[in-house]
Amino acid sequence: MKIRKNDTVLVIAGKDKGKKGKVRFAYPKKNKAIVEGINFIKKHSRAGGQVRQAGIIDLEAPIHISNLMLMCGKCNQPTRVGFTFLEDGRKVRICRKCKEVID
Ligand SMILES: [Zn+2]
Repeated sequence: MKIRKNDTVLVIAGKDKGKKGKVRFAYPKKNKAIVEGINFIKKHSRAGGQVRQAGIIDLEAPIHISNLMLMCGKCNQPTRVGFTFLEDGRKVRICRKCKEVID
């Protein structure tokens, strides 16, 4: 999975193109992620249960990760993700731009 929870990502397609946000949840099987402040949808709801307010609420909908680019914390640029193996055999993500290990 190229995008993980707590990554900062840039939206590169769709109505939120150009916005940045932090990944709240990642769904590796679906290749989707929920990003803070991105891809809001209006949802009608009734009060009750966990929801205190009735009416229309804004909810962040999952966005396909092909619409996202990872922001590299090292070079601070949107980048494609590569993979490499550490000496201990661990597979880690690297920034294709600055070649730094991301995690
Ligand atoms: Zn980088």
